Amino acid sequence: MNGSDYQDFSFIGGWLCLDFANTADGDINTDWTERLESYPHLVAWAQQAGALDDETAERLAQQAAQQPVAAAGALEQARRLRLTIYRIFSTIADERTPDAAELAAFNTALAAAMEHMQVQPRGDGFAWAWAGDSLERPLWPVVWSAAELLLSPEHHMVRECGGRDCSWLFVDTSRNHSRRWCDMKSCGNREKARSHYRRSKGDRV
Ligand SMILES: [Zn+2]
Repeated sequence: MNGSDYQDFSFIGGWLCLDFANTADGDINTDWTERLESYPHLVAWAQQAGALDDETAERLAQQAAQQPVAAAGALEQARRLRLTIYRIFSTIADERTPDAAELAAFNTALAAAMEHMQVQPRGDGFAWAWAGDSLERPLWPVVWSAAELLLSPEHHMVRECGGRDCSWLFVDTSRNHSRRWCDMKSCGNREKARSHYRRSKGDRV
């Protein structure tokens, strides 16, 4: 399987964990279009995001083909993690404190991921590395990224797209902190057209 077989992903979040949350299109709470349709989609996403190297992705794809039930379970876990990450950062974007139950779910995922983090030799020094070919491996760097973002000052810059029926998250690094849309080409233009339409109708909204 080749990561480039699946092209339908966007990487506009600025952080791996936010790009992962953005694999659901539409309103993730109610009605969304799934971009992680199957386990190979999850692997392809992680590969394109730079969270899995090609050899590991290939091994995971083979493992998933041999263990379809376990792969379906890992995909289900990925979607649950996605919702947890979305809820935590959406709440932060709203300048509120995340729900204790969401943080507890996140910390459970973090503990599971950290079991696989090792220090390994790299060059003339050492580096953190993920060890093991579990089907959940694509999730570990995502969880780690979310933990790092929570601890980073950038968590104050997390925003949720202002587009109607869009719940994509991003870090607003614009100079005036004025970014409102996940993507100007999609949500931004759509909302502009909508407000133009309202003005032309004499509606002051
Ligand atoms: Zn949007």
